[in-house]
Amino acid sequence: MSLPKVRKHYFLGMAVNYSSGGWLRHLCTVGRRKDCNALTRFLSRKYKGKAMLCKNGRSALTLALKAYFEPGDEVLVNGFTCYAVYEAVKAAGLKPVFVDIDRESLNFTAELAADAMTGRLEVVRDNGSEIASEPRNDGRERSGPRDDRSRIRGIIIQNTLGNPVDIKAIEAFAREHDLTIIEDLAHCAGVRYPDRREVGTVGAATVLSFGKDKSIDTVSGGALILRDPCKHEIKAPSLRPKLSDHLRARFYPMFGAMSRSLTYIGLGGALMRCLVQIHWVEKSADNRLDLKRRPSKFEARLALKQLQELRKNGEPALREFYYVHNRDKVLKELQKEGYYFGGFWYEKPVSPSRYYRKVHFPESECPNAVYAAEHIVNLPNYYTRRDLLRARQIIKNHLEEGKDGAN
Ligand SMILES: *Cc1c(COP(=O)(O)O)cnc(C)c1O
Repeated sequence: MSLPKVRKHYFLGMAVNYSSGGWLRHLCTVGRRKDCNALTRFLSRKYKGKAMLCKNGRSALTLALKAYFEPGDEVLVNGFTCYAVYEAVKAAGLKPVFVDIDRESLNFTAELAADAMTGRLEVVRDNGSEIASEPRNDGRERSGPRDDRSRIRGIIIQNTLGNPVDIKAIEAFAREHDLTIIEDLAHCAGVRYPDRREVGTVGAATVLSFGKDKSIDTVSGGALILRDPCKHEIKAPSLRPKLSDHLRARFYPMFGAMSRSLTYIGLGGALMRCLVQIHWVEKSADNRLDLKRRPSKFEARLALKQLQELRKNGEPALREFYYVHNRDKVLKELQKEGYYFGGFWYEKPVSPSRYYRKVHFPESECPNAVYAAEHIVNLPNYYTRRDLLRARQIIKNHLEEGKDGAN
């Protein structure tokens, strides 16, 4: 069988979701105050809470954490995530407790969360050195509700790459330990949990990111919906965005299109590197946290449109993932065929790797996350089936036995 020819324009996978003229719309869309108001109203209604628009997802998450927790509290965080989440937890004055993931879903389960909680209690106890550490067997019995020496008060649900967690089990676990649930929809807007409830309608607060490659993508922006009564009052971000951030968001899709075209003559990479050098393009991980600024009005307008178009029956996964052995080799083969993926979600348990050392990630407690970070490849869902045909074939030749994560 002869394969359709792959169009070789996937430079770094950058802004590909803005191809076919999307960049022009992005450049020309005019946003007004009423677009921000309409988006806020839409979010308040959809997620049944008080919505506010934020500069990006991490700022929204920081505000959510400030609203429901005290400085020094600890929150359970998925052990396979991006630096933005860690940054938000720290910025809110909290401590992340990383929970290992289940390899099939890339999410923690209630059992893994219970293990992490027990582990954390033992550390706290050992440091207090009052109680000798007992051999640990069943975590559930040891960590009763509100152990005073544990400060774990919250749990952030991420639904990694659009794979929903078993929400019933997580909710029961959270209730048992009196934990406040925060839902982070950066990967999963529109997805439904196994019990058919939509993500973002369960926790105390819901956080959205409108950043590059997220499930709602307007280059930057984010939102927070406070559902439960807050412990601490939060002021809605109201300052207009910096002009430089506004322009970066406006032009990024056009730069992406330019660099993809230049890839034909081998200059796409150079252009993009140059734009990053002079800060006309910003890498996602470097987007700054800012609790006072709102997104651009045109981004609010585009985000509303995308939200309204979310499919009724749940979105497909944000990215399909596979575990391969010898990932470097797979990458090389993919590149030979014209697939240039900038990076994988995720190349480290907390990505990108240039920030990984700051995190002090507990690798020995999260073996599945470490494994996933070494073996995962994933393909974004904004490519067409046809485009991905060859990529899938290449990947399938290198699959780890029985570790095919894709459905
Ligand atoms: C990207 C991301 C965020 C934050 O998004 P920004 O808009 O880039 O700040 C939060 N949570 C997860 C899981 C993400 O992947």
